[in-house]
Amino acid sequence: MDILAHPNPALKQTSSAVDPGADADLPRLVKVMARAMYDAPGIGLAAPQIGVLKRVFIFDIDDQLGVVCNPVIIERSEETEVDDEGCLSLPGISVPVERSVRVVCEGLDIKGSPVRIEGSDLVARMLQHETDHLDGVLIIDRATPEERRAAMRRYMESAGR
Ligand SMILES: [Zn+2]
Repeated sequence: MDILAHPNPALKQTSSAVDPGADADLPRLVKVMARAMYDAPGIGLAAPQIGVLKRVFIFDIDDQLGVVCNPVIIERSEETEVDDEGCLSLPGISVPVERSVRVVCEGLDIKGSPVRIEGSDLVARMLQHETDHLDGVLIIDRATPEERRAAMRRYMESAGR
């Protein structure tokens, strides 16, 4: 399964909530997503990046696959940090993005049990990045207009578009 690249319209859509207990396709979806993420390789992947508009993302930062369905960032630190961020759907570029340094994300696991992830730094950045995907928001949408223009120029050049 190929990871969709910007400007694929699926990446701009708002994804729908899932019911892990009732969604029989979920285990297969997670398996396909995991293969795509590890092949890339990346540390996180959201379902719309493979064209499935469901509120599911996966991640692996500490050699353990995590799955979050219907994630909501319920707390975020006022303290923020700007750092270069990449995205598997914008191969070849990174963009400075301001994110909260610490967040708490709640959702459901693949069986429908509640999950709560408290993360800082890279984990916090990943949680905000992947949750953004489920609302059709990409890193270029978080950049300043000048940074966005410069990034898109690099993107077009690197892809030979
Ligand atoms: Zn991404």
